[in-house]
Amino acid sequence: SVVEDAPALTDGFQLVIDALKLNDIENLYVVPGIPISDLLRMAQAEGMRVVSFRHEQNAGNAAAIAGFMTKKPGVCMTVSAPGFLNGLTALANATTNCFPMILISGSSEREIVDLQQGDYEEMDQLAIAKPLCKAAFRILHAQDIGIGVARAIRAAVSGRPGGVYLDLPAKLFSQVMDAAEGAKSLVKVVDPTPAQYPSADAVNRALDLLKGAKRPLVIFGKGAAYAQADDTIRAFVEKSGIPFLQMSMAKGLLPDTHPQSAGAARSLVLQDADVVMLVGARLNWLLSHGKGKTWGKPGSKKFIQVDIEPREMDSNVEIHAPLVGDIASVMEVLLKGIDGGLTPPTDWMNTVAAKREQNVAKMAPKLMSNASPMNFHGALGALRRVIKERPDAMLVNEGANTLDLARGIIDMYQPRKRLDVGTWGVMGVGMGYAVAAAVESGKPVLAVEGDSAFGFSGMEVETICRYNLPVCIVIFNNNGIYRGTDVNPTGKADPSPMVFVPGSRYDKMMEAFGGVGVHVTNPDELYRAVTEAMDSGRPTLVNAVIDPAAGTESGNIGSLNPTSSVRKM
Ligand code: ADP
Ligand code: MG
Repeated sequence: SVVEDAPALTDGFQLVIDALKLNDIENLYVVPGIPISDLLRMAQAEGMRVVSFRHEQNAGNAAAIAGFMTKKPGVCMTVSAPGFLNGLTALANATTNCFPMILISGSSEREIVDLQQGDYEEMDQLAIAKPLCKAAFRILHAQDIGIGVARAIRAAVSGRPGGVYLDLPAKLFSQVMDAAEGAKSLVKVVDPTPAQYPSADAVNRALDLLKGAKRPLVIFGKGAAYAQADDTIRAFVEKSGIPFLQMSMAKGLLPDTHPQSAGAARSLVLQDADVVMLVGARLNWLLSHGKGKTWGKPGSKKFIQVDIEPREMDSNVEIHAPLVGDIASVMEVLLKGIDGGLTPPTDWMNTVAAKREQNVAKMAPKLMSNASPMNFHGALGALRRVIKERPDAMLVNEGANTLDLARGIIDMYQPRKRLDVGTWGVMGVGMGYAVAAAVESGKPVLAVEGDSAFGFSGMEVETICRYNLPVCIVIFNNNGIYRGTDVNPTGKADPSPMVFVPGSRYDKMMEAFGGVGVHVTNPDELYRAVTEAMDSGRPTLVNAVIDPAAGTESGNIGSLNPTSSVRKM
């Protein structure tokens, strides 16, 4: 019959799905709508996991953190114009953090957009995305989908990872072509993250510095966690005997309780070290740009920096021994290089250990407080125990005081378990990260959230309930931003811009969607509620009442917050 003789056909929808699947992309983080709804239905029918959010920024954040966790690009799909713009914040955040991500947005008719004739959701998305990501591409023809997707994947993960925008006009999806030709047009990316070794000269220069150091220090950043070179890195640290610091999202690369961890002696090691080796960590604001009081006497240090991005060298201070390459390869070479030539700096390590013990002892009683209303230390002492008892759980953390204090107090034991506000120190990543953490790891997730931070993505509790994800959200509810005590000085009825409805019951939000809500007022109750949630795997929100007076303005970064000297309040 005519039907049997007709050549088998495929179309743009099918080819996008085939191209992603061929490259082992399994999960999509999405918000449906015109023109991608059918694409998402088909993707699910073809066995992809399609996680549908309530707002694109959260879907985008989920894709970004999936990229960090897996070293494969996380994929977010959105509708045109406003959906695209909502996702773009997450794409820019991914790029800033060096997370591989692809934002795929549907877009409207090129002919109409380019003549600005006013299409439904008209916007020149490609042009807008370009300055905010690592690369941006548009595919106009079905036969180019294979190469376009391959290009997006390689751009996202090769070299310094980052965000890639892929523009797919609505018309592309319904373009039809011969199925066999279509299959042939697909590309499986070969060796997307090639090993990149530094030259022998560069290695020797770094080794000379390390071997001559009296007070060396290694700082691991989230690039080191991302690189998945965990065993090599551990072997290097233990063989060299050098104390180490781990940046926030690198915590757990080696256990925070490791005898060489200088986490609790941070000020001392940053001031007194003579040779500092940065591994996948930038000398940006999070490290005071490598200068100033934090770093001791000017000119007292020499820097070694391991990074895949050559232009990162000398970004803020002179790098005496740049090691450009991928961390797995570089650390492998350095590990061989320190064999028999590097004496562990025992005296220095003892000095660091003594300081660490002293600081840990000072902190310990605060963490055992069972006071009500809770302060941050008492509440975090309880959560610290929860993670200690399940080191493979995922931890998501955002807020101001909630972030700063949790980072210091909650020890991490395994790599890539701590997900937080990253390079921008941005609020609003919480629920997107929590969803992806559950989906990608299959492990229980604890999300420790300031009440303000949670508000940016709070509607995704419905998503968490709908997908029945093992996420336990703890809201540190102190009625406001930094604190809950600000008042309107005019005496008028409006509250201060810094406070929320006092005594809010965020736990009821979770109950509205069938999850478990718990209201707690002391650390014992908090510990019990979170333990139960982590063991049951049921979506849970714990409203943890914190003393409204307990926080500090801007947490640890008050110095970045300008205050008026003219008008004192
Ligand atoms: P942190 O905030 O934890 O200090 P940053 O995001 O500032 O970390 O730094 C991460 C660095 O790691 C970036 O400069 C990035 O280029 C680098 N990087 C990421 N992946 C790799 C890799 N596989 N090999 C080498 N460097 C990497
Ligand atoms: Mg608050």
